[in-house]
Amino acid sequence: MDKTEILRWLRETKESRLEDLWLRADAVRKEKVGDAVHLRGLIEISSYCVRQCGYCGLRAGNASLERYRMSEEEIMQCVADAVEFGYGTVVMQAGEDYGIKTEWLANIVRRIKAQTPLAVTLSMGERPVEDLVAWREAGANRYLLRFETSNPVLYEKIHPSLPKQTYNRFDLLKKLRELGYEVGSGVMIGIPGQSYEDLAHDIELFRTLDLDMIGVGPYIAHPATPLGQETIDLTNGNQVPNTELMVYKVLAITRLVCPEANIPSTTALATINKTEGRELGLCRGANIVMPNLTPSQYRRLYEIYPAKACIDETSRQCRGCLWGRIESIGRQVGSGQGGRRRS
Ligand code: SAH
Repeated sequence: MDKTEILRWLRETKESRLEDLWLRADAVRKEKVGDAVHLRGLIEISSYCVRQCGYCGLRAGNASLERYRMSEEEIMQCVADAVEFGYGTVVMQAGEDYGIKTEWLANIVRRIKAQTPLAVTLSMGERPVEDLVAWREAGANRYLLRFETSNPVLYEKIHPSLPKQTYNRFDLLKKLRELGYEVGSGVMIGIPGQSYEDLAHDIELFRTLDLDMIGVGPYIAHPATPLGQETIDLTNGNQVPNTELMVYKVLAITRLVCPEANIPSTTALATINKTEGRELGLCRGANIVMPNLTPSQYRRLYEIYPAKACIDETSRQCRGCLWGRIESIGRQVGSGQGGRRRS
C-alpha cells in the first residue's frame, strides 16, 4: 500500500468500502498473528514528569495533579497479580521521572525476570542511552516510545525539548533496536494541527521502522493542558478528526501495512467508546489488550487524559471484564509472552 492509497483510505467515507477494509484487516490479522489476544498488564509506576508536553495531563506544569511514585514492593505486588491473572507481560510506564533511578529500576527488572516467566516492557520516555543499556542488561525485553507525530514542526510544538537535551525519538528507537529490545512506537490520532498527509506519513514510517509493536489511539483533550484549550478546526478539510471512526481506519490500515506487528486495541479507544471500543478495535486489526494493574489509589492520578476507561475497576475486575469481551467476539486469551513473530 503506497501513500496515495493510505490517504484514500483515511479519507474514505463510504460505509460499504469501509466494511471491506475492516474485513481485509481482520483476515490479515488472523492469518499473520492468529486469534490469540495477548494481555500486557500495565503498571503506571509514577506520575511525576519533567516534560511539558502540550497534550498530556502529567506535564510538569499541571500543578493541580497530585503526584505519586510506587514503591518496589507495590510494583512487585502488581507483578504477582499479573502472574496470577495469567498475563504474559508486564508493562511499566511512567512520566519522564528522574526520581526513577536507573539502578533502582534495573533491580526491579532483575527481580521480575528471576522470579516470574513474564516479559518486561518499559515505557519511561526519553531516558539517556546508559539507562536503556542498564535496563536491557537487567533483562527488559521491550520498550514503548511513541513518536506521536512525524511532522517535526507539530512535534516540537506539542512536545517541547528540554534545555540541553537533544534526544530525538527516532534516534532513540534506532538505539533501542540496536540494544536488542523489541521496539514499540505509535501516534495519537487527531492532534490539533495534524493533517491527513502527516498521518499517512506516520503510517508509512511504521513500516520503514519495522516496528514490533504499534500503538495508536485518539488524541483526547485534557483541559489542564495548552493543547486541551485549543479547538480542533475541521473546516479546512485537512485536519484529521480525533474520532472513533478515524482510529479504526488507522488500525486497519496499519494491520495491512505491518501484517506481523503486535497492535493493541488501546485504552484511549476504549475511553471514547466504553461499550464496544475494545472489541471493535480487535475486530479491525488489533491483537493485543493492555489491562490495567495499577493499584486503585493511584489510577485516578495517572491522568494523561480525562475520563480514562477502567479507572474505577480493580485489577481483578479488569481481568474478568476483558476476558469476557475477548470471548464474546470468538477469540481466546493468548498464553506465553506473545512476542513479535517474524515469518
Ligand atoms: N512518558 C512516557 C509515557 C507517556 S503516556 C512517554 O512519553 O513515552 C503514553 C502515551 O499516552 C503517550 O505516548 C501518548 O501517545 C499518550 N497520551 C498522552 N496524552 C494523551 C492524550 N491527551 N490523549 C491521547 N493520548 C495521550
